[in-house]
Amino acid sequence: MPKVLIATRTFGKYSQEPLELLRKYSFEILIYEKEVLPETLGDVDALIVGTPKVTRDILANSNLKIIAKHGVGVDNIDLKAATELGIPVTVTPGANTESVAELTIGLIFVLARNIVSTHIELFQEHSWHGNVGIEIYGKVLGLVGFGAIAREVNKRAACLGMKVIAYDPYVPAKEIQNAGAKPAILEEVLQLSDFVSIHVPLTEETKGLIGEKELRQMKRSAFLINTARGGIVDEEALATALKEGWISGAALDVFSQEPPNFDSPLFGCNNLVTTPHMGAHTIEAVYRMNIMAAQAVIDFFQGRIPKHVVNQEVLSKLLKAKGSSL
Ligand code: NAD
Repeated sequence: MPKVLIATRTFGKYSQEPLELLRKYSFEILIYEKEVLPETLGDVDALIVGTPKVTRDILANSNLKIIAKHGVGVDNIDLKAATELGIPVTVTPGANTESVAELTIGLIFVLARNIVSTHIELFQEHSWHGNVGIEIYGKVLGLVGFGAIAREVNKRAACLGMKVIAYDPYVPAKEIQNAGAKPAILEEVLQLSDFVSIHVPLTEETKGLIGEKELRQMKRSAFLINTARGGIVDEEALATALKEGWISGAALDVFSQEPPNFDSPLFGCNNLVTTPHMGAHTIEAVYRMNIMAAQAVIDFFQGRIPKHVVNQEVLSKLLKAKGSSL
């Protein structure tokens, strides 16, 4: 009976169906609720993981045969080590795309109309004066990255009358144009946008992509939204930008350290809105991620090639072992 360790807090939380699916295929299920994985996973055969770090040491000391990431960002998994050790890593593309896009649009409204600070003033101080905001109609939304989530944000923003420009060196300009947005370089996105929204993965290339230089290029009236990953925006520079008024405000769903360090100067900025990495936390997205991750593990142990393997080299080896070829 293969053992599967579930290290993501939302697995089976809103529906028993994903757990029942694993039980149907006779998996022994172990639930792990802490944010830091133990150094040794013992005789666990499969790992379904959300945000906990999966390091080379953990992998090298494990008996893991497959890792199913509950989501799409694999920056918490040492992919190189997994590949060297022949462990396929799968993701759940598309499962949370709409949810993250909707949160992004929600944060744009929150920033434009000061909804959070106005609510706090009314609720706690019984202040009835309200805060003047801006319309988002006719404003420029700059997308950094034009992958799945950015494209859904683009569609929604267009319906709201926003003009969308997008920077993504890996997507042909024609594709951005066909989606109704205008291709741009990063500098243009920063200089022209009223709202800049980040939708790139965290990689060596995107780490610190938005730092002091980039924040200083933004309009003083502009807002920054990051629902992608912490570490892409330099938090120290952002805190200074918010305090000194280089930009009007920001919204962060993600932090370089999670949970974040609450002593960070960011938490002294009243023009910052924060959410606890909840872009994918909707009943619908959680259900889809649960089922896709469970199915990847089941497929693997049933002798099928699981869908959405990110380390293709391992996949080729698996196929060869099965006497097939890519
Ligand atoms: P995706 O892979 O579909 O799109 C990412 C896009 O970024 C691609 O088009 C790629 O070409 C582009 N890109 C890569 N490097 C770039 C660079 N240096 N400059 C500009 N563009 C670059 O991924 P997605 O589904 O749209 O998700 C985007 C990110 O959102 C994920 O990597 C993940 O980190 C994050 N995410 C966050 C949550 C959340 O809960 N807040 C949930 C899901 C995903």
